[in-house]
Amino acid sequence: MTTEPVTSEAGRDFIRDIIQADLDSKRHSRIVTRFPPEPNGYLHIGHAKSIALNFGIAQEFAGKCHLRFDDTNPTKEEQEYIDSIQADVRWLGFDWGDNLFYASDYFERLYEWAEGLIKAGLAYVDDQSQEDIRINRGTLTEPGRNSPFRERPVDENLDLFRRMRAGEFQNGARVLRAKIDMAAGNINLRDPVLYRILHAHHPRTGDKWCIYPSYDYAHGQSDAIEGITHSICTLEFEDHRPLYDWLLDKLPVPSHPHQYEFARLNLTYTLLSKRVLTQLVRDGHVAGWDDPRMPTIAGLKRRGVPPAAIREFVKRIGVAKANSVVDVGMLEFCIREHLNKSALRRMAVLRPLKVVIENYPEGQVEELEAVNHPDDPSAGTRKIRFGRELYIEQDDFMENPPKKFFRLSPGNEVRLRYAYFIRCREAIKNVAGEIVELRCTYDPATKGGNAPDGRKVKATMHWLSAQDSVPAEIRIYNQLFARPNPDAGSFAADLNPQSLEILKDARVEPAIAQGNSPEPVQFERQGYFARDKDSTADRPVFNRTIGLRDTFAKEVGGKG
Ligand code: ATP
Ligand code: MG
Repeated sequence: MTTEPVTSEAGRDFIRDIIQADLDSKRHSRIVTRFPPEPNGYLHIGHAKSIALNFGIAQEFAGKCHLRFDDTNPTKEEQEYIDSIQADVRWLGFDWGDNLFYASDYFERLYEWAEGLIKAGLAYVDDQSQEDIRINRGTLTEPGRNSPFRERPVDENLDLFRRMRAGEFQNGARVLRAKIDMAAGNINLRDPVLYRILHAHHPRTGDKWCIYPSYDYAHGQSDAIEGITHSICTLEFEDHRPLYDWLLDKLPVPSHPHQYEFARLNLTYTLLSKRVLTQLVRDGHVAGWDDPRMPTIAGLKRRGVPPAAIREFVKRIGVAKANSVVDVGMLEFCIREHLNKSALRRMAVLRPLKVVIENYPEGQVEELEAVNHPDDPSAGTRKIRFGRELYIEQDDFMENPPKKFFRLSPGNEVRLRYAYFIRCREAIKNVAGEIVELRCTYDPATKGGNAPDGRKVKATMHWLSAQDSVPAEIRIYNQLFARPNPDAGSFAADLNPQSLEILKDARVEPAIAQGNSPEPVQFERQGYFARDKDSTADRPVFNRTIGLRDTFAKEVGGKG
């Protein structure tokens, strides 16, 4: 498992080295990259790695990066995904300027080029069933078998292909295949499918087409049309590169880009496959693509993760040529590190326990001063209200504490942050024997949190005024999967039943309740929390972005 940054020199990796060399040797004068999502789902943190790489390179080398939708499979693609992908790339801090493209913009040209391949004897229409095509493709150890339709005359191929386009045949009745080599060691070269029949409405081309190009036939040609210099993709496409090059060699394309492969991001406790993420949404395991437990950009955003923390994370993990699994703790570290600097401090009581200060005058309220950020005086201070009735955190009190418990217990004295020392006199219980209220006294001489006689307390606790705090709902998120390496095939069995805990009776400072900012704040001693879109005027909802410390490994019994 990778926990240390794998990029040795700051910001350098093998792809950037190649690009620098291509600029130095004048092979290219201007770098053009692209990020080519298929609009069949929302983007996830793995895509962020690819986005940061492609857009980052364009920025660093004064080139440009295109956003290109690889929209060649209308049965799975939707406008909602096209829109969300654009919003997410922008939110991550990247900009494609005027360079927004769609593979579907090139359908006409791709079609003409396919006719060209047929005329050159390099493509043929195959009538075999999908199943027969699969069987006759052979295996890694056995060569494939030629299709009985492989030697069709050019004219017949052309006629059939035109009729495929005209809609004369059913889905799956025929395909157009490249005529390469059924005995090729690389299975991708065994007469790959270039076009299939799909009577489906396309989000952009509507019903104009009923044949659609395959990924392999669309991708390299789109790169060439756009003048991409470095076509960067993940390792699973390494074996497709010979086909990428074969097509570019045979077709009258305006340029010949080169494909480079890097290792995709894998994260512990996480599955980054659109198929799995789609199923999680569809089967209701999560509340939608932007559920804060999802590794989607939309989910991370809703959870309160700042885009800068994601950028920092992908920078730290670097770009390598060998697959690995990154500890999700590294992402969490980057989020904490960022929020520790940026988040204002506030107080919230997640699981309130009422405290009555018996010697504090009834009806009296006083305003105390609290700092907004301990390391940043420019963040200023705010007033918080103290009164006779307060809330503290339930687990800050123990009736029969073990030796090392220094927080509140009968007879013990603690400091309430920014306020006073208090001492517990008695715990009041209900008929069920549960503690419902604490009776305490305060020492008026300790205002501000220090005793003039120099006596010390071992604990400082957060608190809120009962009267001047606001009820809130707080959602605590844990890992969506309970195992460090969930199984994509049977992921439902690996879901963490404790991935969401809803605290309905929490209290927050009025200052946070009234604010409308999506920026997370630190609830002192609890973690970082961001306002959720489910908030209403009288009831704010907060998502825990992340806790202050990594407690997850302990909770589930160790990291893989
Ligand atoms: P699937 O999840 O079904 O494999 P995909 O994630 O490859 O689909 P695309 O929309 O094709 O979906 O991805 C767009 C780009 O993002 C591709 O260039 C792909 O290589 C890259 N990408 C996808 N997943 C990751 C990942 N985990 N790490 C890095 N890059 C990724
Ligand atoms: Mg893909």
